Amino acid sequence: MIPQDHPRAESLHTREMLVDGFRRKLVVAEGLIAHGRGEAYDYLIGERTSAVAKKAIRAAAAALLLPDKRAVLSVNGNAAALCPKEIVELSGITGAAIEVNLFYRTEEREYAIKAELERHGARNVLGVGPRASAKIPELSSERRRVDPDGIFAADTVFVPLEDGDRTEALARMGKTVITVDLNPLSRTARAAHVTIVDNLVRAMPALVHEAQALKGRDEKSLKKIVSAFDNEKNLAQSLKKIRGGI
Ligand code: ATP
Ligand code: MG
Repeated sequence: MIPQDHPRAESLHTREMLVDGFRRKLVVAEGLIAHGRGEAYDYLIGERTSAVAKKAIRAAAAALLLPDKRAVLSVNGNAAALCPKEIVELSGITGAAIEVNLFYRTEEREYAIKAELERHGARNVLGVGPRASAKIPELSSERRRVDPDGIFAADTVFVPLEDGDRTEALARMGKTVITVDLNPLSRTARAAHVTIVDNLVRAMPALVHEAQALKGRDEKSLKKIVSAFDNEKNLAQSLKKIRGGI
């Protein structure tokens, strides 16, 4: 049991969720290490959702709500362990499809993640087993496989905690890429169009809340929010915060 008054209670609780996900075969060992890299940045940003991140969350919510764009939420092991409920909620609010998309693919893990999402109410989970039959160009091996009805055909992809190569490849395919990444210097953070520099466990509930708030806005006002967002500037502001500038 983690004592509630422990100064790192939240962070320890998040670790427990990932270790539990690891035991349930949703998360791979590499995912635990990736989380550690994220934690270090979280410490530096003060383990709070910054005003800078809130701006990115608003742009992300607006982009996912655009009515003429096909959006897909990509789910890996860490995301399934940390925020399955919010992924399903975000899909419900925005109409975006959900696709299981793993860097370290095994059928067993794909089905385990699908089942976890379904346990939280997801209905049509893409990308599992033979469904992942399309390929992202320029990537090698299993890392490039995606669902032809999901990420492959999407205009907008939400890829929290994604690898840099794959983010860059998705951007080159002309997709609008939204990510959540605590490291403003990662290739993913730099290649995405909207980067939310925040911990996924805080960013997801905030994104659900923002999508709910913006739902019903007309297309013009959503587009205005998206086009007013400048990712490079936003990343520079996050970095400044980490360096102690704000
Ligand atoms: P890239 O491949 O984009 O250059 P990388 O190789 O440094 O990045 P990866 O191991 O590929 O990093 O991916 C893990 C990324 O996810 C890291 O940038 C890390 O900061 C981030 N990350 C890990 N856990 C979380 C979390 N809970 N919330 C937000 N970001 C996280
Ligand atoms: Mg990487």
